Amino acid sequence: MTGATVCLSYDFDAVSTWLWSYDSWEMPTRHSRGVFGAEVAAPRLLDLHDEHDIPATWFIPGHTIDSFEEICGEVWDRGYDIQHHGWSHTGPATFESKEDEQADIERGIESIQDVTGREPTGYRSPAWDFSQHTLDILQELGFEWDSSKMASDFRPHYVYGNWSAPEDGPYDRGEPTDLVELPVSWQRDDWPPLTFTWSRPHRMGYASEDSIFQRWYDQFDWMYDHVDDGVFILTMHPQVIGQAHRLQRLEQLIQHMQTKDDVQFEEMDTVAQNFDG
Ligand SMILES: [Zn+2]
Repeated sequence: MTGATVCLSYDFDAVSTWLWSYDSWEMPTRHSRGVFGAEVAAPRLLDLHDEHDIPATWFIPGHTIDSFEEICGEVWDRGYDIQHHGWSHTGPATFESKEDEQADIERGIESIQDVTGREPTGYRSPAWDFSQHTLDILQELGFEWDSSKMASDFRPHYVYGNWSAPEDGPYDRGEPTDLVELPVSWQRDDWPPLTFTWSRPHRMGYASEDSIFQRWYDQFDWMYDHVDDGVFILTMHPQVIGQAHRLQRLEQLIQHMQTKDDVQFEEMDTVAQNFDG
């Protein structure tokens, strides 16, 4: 190996995920789980990162920024990057039109500008998927990178456009665009295994922390040993990872990574800017 990069990222959904992704408009206890993320967990994570002097990338829906202005301002003021995660937490493919999807993304940009004074460069889809319009919208609005796709595990690449998936013919993956992809994985995400929900049996939320963190150690160690200049991107949610019994494990994981030679912690925007294909 010739060095490794680690990007710790937080999808700061707060209440938005319960509203748009779980249709819990009239369920205040579900809302309160998001409030915990904003008021209790996010400050803990900022403290953890401050203590270890490690950068982070926070993907924040505009709804979270507009609802919890103070803590979102603190994320930025304490030196952590803020990138785009929709205004609402709506899966792109569920918008009724390109105009509706674009309006939500533009509203999210305005919320981020209110906090940071600059436009975001990166986008992470709330559903980790694109509609048929998302790529066009991102390019029209000047985004430089995305973090929603899984065609690679530890290597940035370009997002492909004009793909086709006919029922009666082979798959055509299309052509590379100039939008950089910083790949995600359900295997490096805290939400599905560690979040209890009622309605979705595959998300029972009682997976053992031992097994989940071991999965992250194993992936990082394999990447470190086998992939030149690999990029390890971990997706976490403050309301999930910021719980007491998980913070110490996250700190131990960070310390494990720090024991290796040639490991850099970076903002995702830095990785995207340095990517040259
Ligand atoms: Zn999210």
